Amino acid sequence: MKRGPGEERLGESPKTVCENVDRCPLFPLFSMESTLNVWKALYCHSSQHKSCARFVFVNEHKKPPPADMLPDGTKLKVLPDR
Ligand code: SF4
Repeated sequence: MKRGPGEERLGESPKTVCENVDRCPLFPLFSMESTLNVWKALYCHSSQHKSCARFVFVNEHKKPPPADMLPDGTKLKVLPDR
């Protein structure tokens, strides 16, 4: 059975997967680009998602974070070529 982007992998608890994966515009990019996949492993599919700068921003400001904000708070400099 095919899983959607927000569905957890075997062994992952729903609590370890960020609740924003279905609406975060960077999550699909992290999933498609191998150079950015580390963010997904470190934050989106980890209990560390609660310390993601994007996650924190949404909860504090009740609005989407800047489009180029990475989970560590730095800016995504250049989108990879497609
Ligand atoms: S980048 Fe941050 S807010 Fe977006 S899905 Fe990953 S952990 Fe959640």
